[in-house]
Amino acid sequence: MEKIQMKTPLVEMDGDEMTRILWKMIKEELLLPFVDLKTEYYDLGLPCRNETDDQVTIDSANATAKYGVAVKCATITPNAARVTEYDLKKMWKSPNGTIRSILNGTVFRTPIIVKGIEPNVRTWKKPITIARHAYGDVYSNTEMLLTQSGKAEIVFTGADGSETRQLIHDFDEKGGVIQGLHNCTPSIESFARSCFNYALDLKQDLWFGAKDTISKQYDHHFKDVFEEIFEAEYKEKFEAAGITYFYSLIDDIVARIMKSEGGMIWACKNYDGDVMSDMISSAFGSLAMMTSVLVSPGGVFEYEAAHGTVQRHYYKYLKGEETSTNSVATIFAWTGALKKRGELDGLDGLVRFASLLEKATIDTIESGKMTKDLILISTLQDKVPLNSLDFIKAIRQTLESYL
Ligand code: NAP
Ligand code: MG
Repeated sequence: MEKIQMKTPLVEMDGDEMTRILWKMIKEELLLPFVDLKTEYYDLGLPCRNETDDQVTIDSANATAKYGVAVKCATITPNAARVTEYDLKKMWKSPNGTIRSILNGTVFRTPIIVKGIEPNVRTWKKPITIARHAYGDVYSNTEMLLTQSGKAEIVFTGADGSETRQLIHDFDEKGGVIQGLHNCTPSIESFARSCFNYALDLKQDLWFGAKDTISKQYDHHFKDVFEEIFEAEYKEKFEAAGITYFYSLIDDIVARIMKSEGGMIWACKNYDGDVMSDMISSAFGSLAMMTSVLVSPGGVFEYEAAHGTVQRHYYKYLKGEETSTNSVATIFAWTGALKKRGELDGLDGLVRFASLLEKATIDTIESGKMTKDLILISTLQDKVPLNSLDFIKAIRQTLESYL
């Protein structure tokens, strides 16, 4: 078979620990034999980030902005223990945070569904994608614990020198707690645009919920920003694509999600997204079966697995012990990126290959061959646990039978 050709390079961001091992296996077994893989390689493994004073992370994000599509391996976000373990010059920031702030994007997480691992919610037939607004609200709050009586006020001092005050609460001597939150209109706008763009990309309905009836300024502003941008920029495109934008109160959205069959993108404010993404991933089965894509309002895409570097498995691997680490989310990061690259470059063969690799992955699991994490939760009758490499080889065998 002739190898499938590419035009524009993919930005390839290598990573750490067990996922770095899987990365190499996936490339060698599932990609390089079939695709004339063109990538611009950035090593975001912690040693290289340390050597380059984290410049490599910034360079990889800029390359993503330039080329439009990236695929990223999971990376270590250093804490004190990692500083010692890797003898780091300093506690480098989270690469995902750095990349997100350069690309100014929104993260969308989608579960991968296979037979035998049914969602805990009976009605869910299709994946539910969560879009979390990753800026502001309680994550950059100012808060105080009050232990005496006094008046708490919120004060805004305008650039024109004007002052606006509002009473929060008059506390008695028993005290209490107060919290100041903020968000910025441009951030809400780019969140909205990323969501509308991604809904068009997937041709799926977009749902958004907030508490505008109670929060008549704050949450209402989110509702208004979404509504205005939708009316002005997306209404016709949504009609043409046959999809809808649906806003409701957050509690109504939650109730409807539980009764839906899935298949929508659910835009969430920061806190809702934090909580609901954990609910969705556990209800659909496993973090190892969750993909993630960062979409910028300008239409740049960075694909990765939602899980981390699977440190515990890596230490086993280093000791020469057998591992059975699930590579599905990392494979789907590659297929997502290759499909998008193929679409942008008009390469049908590349799109078809990526879809076949996804099908081969799912069919392999549905035939009973899977990693140990899935053995524990799959209801299939005949199951064969495979180690990390054998699972990838089994997918290759299925894939080859399709080509
Ligand atoms: P993790 O890598 O997601 O793994 C936590 C546990 O979940 C694993 O020990 C394993 O459970 C299970 N698991 C996750 N992915 C799996 C897979 N593909 N196959 C099988 N089991 C899987 O989280 P962590 O151990 O808390 O974090 C490790 C490192 O990852 C940290 O340094 C953190 O900074 C980093 N991290 C990176 C990203 C990212 O780059 N996007 C995201 C999150 C965390 P068992 O051990 O029970 O088998
Ligand atoms: Mg969470």
